[in-house]
Amino acid sequence: MGNEKLLSDLDRLRANFQTGVTKSYSFRREQLRKLKDAVLQYEDALFAALDTDLKKSREEAWVTETGFVVSEINAALKHLRHWMNPQKVKTNLVNFPSSSYVMPEPLGVVLIIGPWNYPLQLLLTPLVGAIASGNCVVLKPSEFASATAAVIKELIESSFPKEYILYVEGEGAQIVPAMMNNYRFDHVFYTGSTSVGRNVYKMAADKLVPVTLELGGKSPCVVEEDANLKVAARRITVAKFSNAGQMCVAPDYVLVHDSKKRQFIEALTQSLLQFFSEEPEYNYNYGKIINEKQFDRLSGYLKEGSLLHGGRTNRETLFIEPTILEDIPPESSMMHEEIFGPILPIFGFTNAADAKQLVDKNPNPLAFYVFTDSKEKERWWLENIPAGGACVNNVSWHLTNHNLPFGGRGTSGMGYYHGKFSFDTFSHLKAVLKTPTWFDPNVKYPPFKGKLSLFKKIIR
Ligand code: NAD
Repeated sequence: MGNEKLLSDLDRLRANFQTGVTKSYSFRREQLRKLKDAVLQYEDALFAALDTDLKKSREEAWVTETGFVVSEINAALKHLRHWMNPQKVKTNLVNFPSSSYVMPEPLGVVLIIGPWNYPLQLLLTPLVGAIASGNCVVLKPSEFASATAAVIKELIESSFPKEYILYVEGEGAQIVPAMMNNYRFDHVFYTGSTSVGRNVYKMAADKLVPVTLELGGKSPCVVEEDANLKVAARRITVAKFSNAGQMCVAPDYVLVHDSKKRQFIEALTQSLLQFFSEEPEYNYNYGKIINEKQFDRLSGYLKEGSLLHGGRTNRETLFIEPTILEDIPPESSMMHEEIFGPILPIFGFTNAADAKQLVDKNPNPLAFYVFTDSKEKERWWLENIPAGGACVNNVSWHLTNHNLPFGGRGTSGMGYYHGKFSFDTFSHLKAVLKTPTWFDPNVKYPPFKGKLSLFKKIIR
């Protein structure tokens, strides 16, 4: 798409927004229903595309992609009326007898930029929030999950006019600056790597555009000596190795109490064999790496530690076996970069303060996980590790509960979404104070001299 054409398409979105057509409850509800119907109608095509891009099974694709989006739409449809209603709040004494409420209003034209690892979920879940909040939307998928992107394009373009939802494709490094530097969006919602997120933030800052940045990081998982090892191993395995580890909230590495390290590794190995068999390359439940670039990056990590399990690769099929490593030197690149693949380093620890030191080398992870049966240990870890989100005795599932805000902090991002949090992200919360005219006391007007003690009583 040429830049001029693109910019005139963006102007048409703005003009459409300004007609007010997207604001009514009935319009928003109808669009959410349309989106749900489209996702279900294209389900088979999406499953096939997700298999092509990432070798995702249909079941995994439902749980993490199509079903995930449908569930977000259902929640939005259920609560939309309530979310849109102005919310009455208390009024302070100085404003007596006024009333106050918070009135959500649509932002305008918003840009949503998605990554390749959950190409449907991470593009359409924010879209649900943007539609629910009454905005016009530009959708920019990742160019790397191209089969899924092609289906999403058809799904969107056959369901919505492009002056309402504009699907834009192309290389992110070109098309995103072409839009952001020449057009003022009312919000940019970006999911992807921290380094690109930084560029997006800079471009947004130039035009004072608010952003939500859903970024990456190294999410640690702690297994305490009192943890249920079998359950921990199963839950860690499924979260770390589904989608071949290409999950933003996958545990990046495990810190296990020294007294239980061998037992835990044994349980982890058992879970791996049980879930993905001796030949994961040909296993229906096991995915592939997205492309050669990621494959080469990940293969490099395999040499950085001692192999406990796995390690086989096939560049032709972009296969990397679920792999467990130990003895990783702290200066290795694997311990400075987000792994984002099926390689799990294991570290032992004897006391929590030492383990925390390792975590603190990569602060503010997107997620933090701890397995323990002790309330005190649970509290200690939750209070001592700042993170976007957390699970106790679980891994990654916090993001499936749309009653919880999902987002990072520091280098793992800013802002949050899911459920009502998405609605708020894509709305401006307008503060309204309404004051009757029958009471208009002179105390509020000059001359003020002599009123200080009264002011001190009213305003405190
Ligand atoms: P990426 O940064 O390469 O790309 C993400 C999007 O940005 C794509 O649509 C791409 O086209 C676009 N893009 C690329 N270069 C750009 C540029 N210079 N300017 C503007 N846009 C550009 O990320 P990725 O490799 O697709 O995703 C992997 C990363 O995303 C990991 O770090 C992972 O942790 C993170 N992630 C985070 C979440 C989350 O919810 N926090 C979810 C999934 C992935």
